[in-house]
Amino acid sequence: MSQGAAGNPTVAMIQAAFTHHQLPWRYINLEVAPADLPAAVHGALAMGFRGFNLSMPHKVAVIPLLAGLGESAKLIGAVNCVVRRDGAFVGENTDGKGFLTSLQTVIDPRGTNVVLFGAGGAARAIAIELALAGIRHLTIVNRAMDRGRGLVDALRAGTPTEVTFVPWSGNYVVPSDTQVLINATSIGLYAPEARVPVAVESLRPEMVVADVVFNPPNTRFLDEAAARGCTTLDGLGMLVNQGVIGVSYWTGVTPDAAVMRRALEQALGLAR
Ligand code: NDP
Repeated sequence: MSQGAAGNPTVAMIQAAFTHHQLPWRYINLEVAPADLPAAVHGALAMGFRGFNLSMPHKVAVIPLLAGLGESAKLIGAVNCVVRRDGAFVGENTDGKGFLTSLQTVIDPRGTNVVLFGAGGAARAIAIELALAGIRHLTIVNRAMDRGRGLVDALRAGTPTEVTFVPWSGNYVVPSDTQVLINATSIGLYAPEARVPVAVESLRPEMVVADVVFNPPNTRFLDEAAARGCTTLDGLGMLVNQGVIGVSYWTGVTPDAAVMRRALEQALGLAR
């Protein structure tokens, strides 16, 4: 069975960074069956790999195979980026860090009130990273109560951030003291007309509104927010910045994000 590595656009983006910075490196897509993960990780170490990215279902299963975890990877409980440090593999999570870097281009999140839609893998990574970055209050809005409450428990146990859970039913009315609103659900993925259930009239021009969905990047949620005068951030920024962080972990070179975004847009067929 395929684990879905084929067709992942990350390879085009990372390889473009290597080419642009004249780094004689290769980033390759490899399909690994769950039962073969331990052999693949040991083989990568033996063959001198400087690191690799992982997608589901390997993000959690890889943890016992590593020598250690970065702070946010430990709290998130998932690893999407492995880095060789002092001859051993360490697990990092760059999903939330990529989002945070993208967010910091428009607002300093320290001390802000944030509303987050979703409690899946992407939402969990973003929530932990925002908490570590010093936001004041986080409201998690999710349809499934158990997932939402589980994320709240993890945040309360591992970070000092104030957290509230709101079960999602009907159009969510965004509190007026919210500075950042994030859609971290899969609503809108390959579905440009799909609507995030939010009371659009509660969006205010001073809010930053972000979406994790990157295909298509101009989601209906962002269009509606832009029409209300909000500052918007698309999911490509998160994806590009997690690539930037991965390349800098592996090579020590901070790559040009604009070069990587162009390569990604081309790979996704979005280039104008
Ligand atoms: P998960 O399957 O782990 O979580 C999906 C989340 O979406 C859950 O909270 C789920 O709620 C919610 N959801 C799905 N459909 C609906 C709906 N109709 N109404 C309300 N809530 C809904 O997925 P991931 O967290 O891994 O991925 C989420 C999105 O993030 C995807 O679109 C993915 O492509 C994107 N992503 C983007 C990245 C980037 O770099 N830009 C990186 C990683 C992911 P419930 O718990 O109630 O089922």
